[in-house]
Amino acid sequence: MNTQVAIIGAGPSGLLLGQLLHKAGIDTVILERQTPEYVLGRIRAGVLEQGTVDLLREAGVAERMDREGLVHEGVELLVAGRRQRLDLKGLTGGKTVMVYGQTEVTCDLMQAREASGAPIIYSASNVQPHELKDERPYVTFEKDGQTHRLDCDYIAGCDGFHGVSRKSIPEGVLKEYERVYPFGWLGMLSDTPPVNHELIYAHHERGFSLCSQRSQTRSRYYLQVPLDERVEDWSDERFWNELKARLPEDVARQLVTGPALEKSIAPLRSLVVEPMQYGHLFLVGDAAHIVPPTGAKGLNLAASDVNYLYRILVKVYREGRIDLLQQYSPLALRRVWKGERFSWFMTQLLHDFGEHKDAWDQKMQEADREYFLTSPAGLVNIAENYVGLPYEEVA
Ligand SMILES: Cc1cc2nc3c(=O)[nH]c(=O)nc-3n(C[C@H](O)[C@H](O)[C@H](O)COP(=O)(O)OP(=O)(O)OC[C@H]3O[C@@H](n4cnc5c(N)ncnc54)[C@H](O)[C@@H]3O)c2cc1C
Repeated sequence: MNTQVAIIGAGPSGLLLGQLLHKAGIDTVILERQTPEYVLGRIRAGVLEQGTVDLLREAGVAERMDREGLVHEGVELLVAGRRQRLDLKGLTGGKTVMVYGQTEVTCDLMQAREASGAPIIYSASNVQPHELKDERPYVTFEKDGQTHRLDCDYIAGCDGFHGVSRKSIPEGVLKEYERVYPFGWLGMLSDTPPVNHELIYAHHERGFSLCSQRSQTRSRYYLQVPLDERVEDWSDERFWNELKARLPEDVARQLVTGPALEKSIAPLRSLVVEPMQYGHLFLVGDAAHIVPPTGAKGLNLAASDVNYLYRILVKVYREGRIDLLQQYSPLALRRVWKGERFSWFMTQLLHDFGEHKDAWDQKMQEADREYFLTSPAGLVNIAENYVGLPYEEVA
């Protein structure tokens, strides 16, 4: 089997890269370890930056998003008893975010892939990239008990944090930066109308909570919980009661409760590996970096990497600009680190660190809250990062 770009992983990064390259006339084969049903069953991100929205439009997969997605012009921050609306649109000169679930983005991309007729192989096991420093690398995988070989020019490692791509890079090449937080998020999805028309990020002495949403009838709520908490110990009733206890009374009174469609706990961590390229292998999205979800940046950083790799590969194939391949990692990382900084900052600002912060750090946290939520410059700072910083030109 032969292709120009072998893509490992059919999460949002692999599917979006595949769709953009296909539209540009560049051949790709996508190899995915799981079944399509499994991929679509994962409940994850829900807030799309302007740049991600624009990229989905460019990929020709935005029709349903533009019809069903909810454009949000602001978010609310509840800190130290103060309810502060962040006017994203006003503070950023007109930028907004789109609330449209990652599951829906993935579903739209899968349908586009199927309609295009471009190959995508699900349930591919033992996927392994080879000869990454060679002009003609290849990927081997097993499907239905047979071993296959896929020859290609380049490999895009879009296989998430647990994927094989990053692990295929020889030891000692990558430098890893990591921050692990002493808590996780317990998330609950329910078919209930959102408590507020905009997202609410709430700091409380009982811990952080987030009132998010996927549509006008589907809500996603999160609670900060200790790392040793178990989902089985959280009945729906316990979840709703705890959420109400962390919200101001007027908001709690409006909360519509109902049975959980899904509940899960995700530990919070920040991680970046550098560089994001090794020979003809390029790491994209969660394969190279993880953020705590507090800044709504995970999926958006994956889209940002896709944006750079896609534009570089188009110039490589159309104009012979192989010099640009070296630009991928520095370009992508400059934006990744800003996204990491913002996600870290929001996590510091809004969570309760208990004994994990000393008295000095707690005072700094209080001063940050006071400053960022009362100063016009502080509000602009949060808003411009939340809607997403601009992409750099690939030239
Ligand atoms: C529980 C959870 C909740 C999250 N919530 C939020 C949120 O609220 N907001 C936010 O912005 N971000 C959130 N994120 C992060 C966001 O979902 C990710 O940043 C995003 O999915 C990254 O996309 P990706 O395509 O790079 O990786 P992934 O979505 O992880 O996709 C990787 C794909 O590669 C496949 N794969 C893995 N290994 C192999 C292999 N060896 N061979 C072939 N295929 C392989 C996987 O099955 C998967 O389909 C969350 C993540 C998790 C895990």
